[in-house]
Amino acid sequence: MKIFLDTIGCRLNQAEIESMALQFRAAGHEIVAAAEEADLAVVNTCAVTTDAAADSRRKIRHLANTGVDEIVATGCWSTLQPGQAAALPHVKQVIPNQRKDTLVEETLNVKHSTFDLEPLTRIPLPGLHHRTRAFIKVQDGCDNHCTFCITTVARGESRSRPAADVIRDIHSALAGGAKEIVLTGVHLGSWGQDFGLHLRDLTATILREADIPRLRLSSLEPWDLDEAFFALWADARLQPHLHLPLQSGCDSTLRRMARKTDTASFRALAAAARRLIPDVAITTDLIAGFPGETADEFALTMDFVREMQFAGGHVFTYSPRPGTGAARLRDQVRPEVRKERNRLLRGILDKAEQSYRQKFIGRSLPVLWESVSELGEWGWQMEGLTGNYMRVSATASSPRWNELDNVKLVEVHAGGMKGVIGNC
Ligand code: SF4
Repeated sequence: MKIFLDTIGCRLNQAEIESMALQFRAAGHEIVAAAEEADLAVVNTCAVTTDAAADSRRKIRHLANTGVDEIVATGCWSTLQPGQAAALPHVKQVIPNQRKDTLVEETLNVKHSTFDLEPLTRIPLPGLHHRTRAFIKVQDGCDNHCTFCITTVARGESRSRPAADVIRDIHSALAGGAKEIVLTGVHLGSWGQDFGLHLRDLTATILREADIPRLRLSSLEPWDLDEAFFALWADARLQPHLHLPLQSGCDSTLRRMARKTDTASFRALAAAARRLIPDVAITTDLIAGFPGETADEFALTMDFVREMQFAGGHVFTYSPRPGTGAARLRDQVRPEVRKERNRLLRGILDKAEQSYRQKFIGRSLPVLWESVSELGEWGWQMEGLTGNYMRVSATASSPRWNELDNVKLVEVHAGGMKGVIGNC
């Protein structure tokens, strides 16, 4: 069969469709780049915001209009709304998050034992979701109950994948040519808590047992980390980037969010990371307009975000998700005020991001090229990421997709930095 895999939302969803691709291929099927060619499609949906849920439905309808007869809906939105998902055109199966690991077997109606994953190498997905970096799922679910979060509802309790399975997937990705491995999960920092270990142990094992050029950790909740964790960065293969969701810079707002952190411990953690990890980029997530957020509370948040000097991040306008504690809170902030607060926080983050990048002008950093476009007689336009997560563009005389080059950074611009590839 020809199978088209599509996803919305987080890196974990991307990691999951990459793993499904491996299994479908192992079972003898072909992964195609376009829906038009497909006999069957799997859509990994998202419910993190109202917009993401709407995008999930739109994608499924689009696939049906494109002529795909059999659609399998999975992921957070279809887990929360199985009836709505099943009612969409051409949806033949709705497989909840809790059964995602056996989705390929259920879809093909075969036993796992009938297809062998060894020694298959990870091949980047064709089409839209073509990535140089390999996202590897190490954990799922979450035991926290941040009051704004629907993911913890959709994904269930926290559960860690055994280190041996993670290492096997990493070797498969390296055999397929991946130069960067990104560890991902719903609550990545809780890896190992279900069997008395810590993410620190897994990271150390991976660095010991796998010859990886670059290892990156995706989003980490601040309360899972301590100074001992930062000692891991003595290994230069671990990329100097920490994405630490702060969500709010005001302690009373953080309490209403049921976040297990406060501004004092976040400040201390950021200071420790900057002391122990040279050039570390600390990026973050912020929510604008959380219920009950007064103008004074918001002013505290703006001050704290300015003080933290983040290297970038995302700002989400608060979106009430049915089934979350925050959606039932009184004092919902007016939508136009939420939007305005998003704009103000965005401005603070953008300014801090520019000044962080400015520090690297004139320095050379390794860049992993992720996209190439032809410039005709001028050669090739490259785009990629530094270890500290700065997006860099440069030109080259030949396409250098998935190559790691030393690049001299010469200019900051709105979308990233401009560089010159050394000796190329
Ligand atoms: S830590 Fe909080 S925000 Fe993150 S997945 Fe868990 S409940 Fe959601």
